[in-house]
Amino acid sequence: MESKLLQTHYRTSTCGELRKEDIGRQVTLIGWVFRWRDHGGMVFIDMRDRYGVTQVVFDRKSAEQDIDDLAHRLRAEYVIQIRGKVRPRPAGTVNPNLSTGEIEISADHLEILSESDNPPFRLDDKGSVNEDLRLTYRYLDLRREELQKYLIIRHKAVTATRNYFDRNGFLDIETPILCKPTPEGARDFLVPARLHPGKFYALPQSPQLYKQLLMVSGFDRYYQIARCFRDEDLRADRQPEFTQIDVEMSFIVEDDIIRVVEGLLQAIFSETLGIEIPATFPRLSYDEAMERFGIDRPDTRYGLEIQDFSACFGNCGFRVFDSLLSTGGRIRGIVVPGAARYSRKELDDLNALAAEMGSKGCVWQRVGKKGEHDSSIKNYVEQKFLDAAAEHGKASAGDLIVYVGGTDGVTSKALARLRQFLGDKEGLIDKNRLDFLWVTDFPLFERDPASGALSPAHHPFTSPRPEDLDKLTTSPELVRSRAYDVVLNGNEIGGGSIRIHNREVQRRIFTALGISDEDAEYKFGFLLKAFQFGPPPHGGIALGVDRIAMLLTGTDSIRDVIAFPKTAKASALMEDSPSIVNEHELLELHIRRIVRS
Ligand code: ASP
Repeated sequence: MESKLLQTHYRTSTCGELRKEDIGRQVTLIGWVFRWRDHGGMVFIDMRDRYGVTQVVFDRKSAEQDIDDLAHRLRAEYVIQIRGKVRPRPAGTVNPNLSTGEIEISADHLEILSESDNPPFRLDDKGSVNEDLRLTYRYLDLRREELQKYLIIRHKAVTATRNYFDRNGFLDIETPILCKPTPEGARDFLVPARLHPGKFYALPQSPQLYKQLLMVSGFDRYYQIARCFRDEDLRADRQPEFTQIDVEMSFIVEDDIIRVVEGLLQAIFSETLGIEIPATFPRLSYDEAMERFGIDRPDTRYGLEIQDFSACFGNCGFRVFDSLLSTGGRIRGIVVPGAARYSRKELDDLNALAAEMGSKGCVWQRVGKKGEHDSSIKNYVEQKFLDAAAEHGKASAGDLIVYVGGTDGVTSKALARLRQFLGDKEGLIDKNRLDFLWVTDFPLFERDPASGALSPAHHPFTSPRPEDLDKLTTSPELVRSRAYDVVLNGNEIGGGSIRIHNREVQRRIFTALGISDEDAEYKFGFLLKAFQFGPPPHGGIALGVDRIAMLLTGTDSIRDVIAFPKTAKASALMEDSPSIVNEHELLELHIRRIVRS
């Protein structure tokens, strides 16, 4: 980094800066004692700061202080300032893995600026330390090079984002944190309002309503790096608070948003990692994604696409297949090249995995020559059915076919998981590839299988496709929306939609969702009111910063790209939160504790 301001009262140079060209210079460095060695009475240390590591040798006598004695008092993580001369490392001791590896400092002055207790874990220890301990001492964990690198990459991605939007006429506008519940469909975090007994604010699940209101105000290009809060039961890669690149635009259609986001991702990848990604990404409809990959965020870095084998097994004699085909189900499957070699145990594992995903398990077929297939159903069906399936799936001798039968919901879920598992197992996933794609034309509604109730697949302001509006009352499941997701290597990294700006359409959607006028008025009255005053056509998207940072850094833990993350149980181990508050504070908030027995 080239900045004169890195020079301060305490230092002439950072610990990552000095090179061969600096040999002979008198310098002052400040940093932490990283490694400490005593070679025959002579002290060597590696000094560390955010910029790197520099080797320092205490081999000079100094008139002002007993530097040798002081150097022997140093311990790991002491903060020290040294003054000395840059010199080449002795032949044979050059460290090519270190940017400062050709030089060392021969110190003639040492100052201990602060001492450190013995750290609870070694800071050069990669990964073997228990995560709870690392989270409890997060500030020490963050001294580790790996986490520093991750946060720097995240910073670069956010900076690239801000610059990109600024270049393109977007305004960064903040929206409230204490707000009215937003319609993302998760549980809200609530904040009691002391000045309004019995009333609560909600923390925003996203700035959705506010950004739409900004469109009504005429700010036709808005973005915000927004913190969002959702009180959900957490999964491994979720956090109760997370960060979104939130965008909204007026006078646009899907293509306009897609172009803006493609440009943004190009800027992020190029300015963060120096990687040039394609200028446009392929697009898949939701239906096609589900048909070919069983999932709405497909990883297209490898094949193993799902195929429909139903036509090959008509009246085949295997009761399970016959009955599900006659009740509208399908038999879908995946051809795995060369996998006929799998042992019974490996095939049983596939079956267990398919069952875990809610199906009745899978049927397998080891593809042989015509009339010579081995299969878990070979005692129930004639070989000609297996021949037909092999031919239909373009499978060759030595391949394996894995079938799952049932409704599309069941087969998609199981086969998507099997496909991912098999892609991994067969080493088919090229880790160096970046496959971006758009998934479009999502269904507008989801139906709860238990209650039959409709809910918005995205949120209730998502616009239906106009040509599907007449299906709203007859077959609402078939109404497609103007929503889109952007996917990278099987991860949804963003999603959004064109919004409804027509009152009559909005009313019809609320009716389909069973949201009464009073309910709509209570929840979103302020937005609906604003929509009485000339709302422009508009739409937007939000991209997950944490997820993108994970993909940029290559880490598999979301906690690695957040400075102070929560555990999977949503607690913060370092500061011990959430924590108990005293009775007096609760009373001020008009809250009484009820102890349930
Ligand atoms: N508010 C949406 C979300 O957080 C994104 C959008 O529609 O812009 O998922």
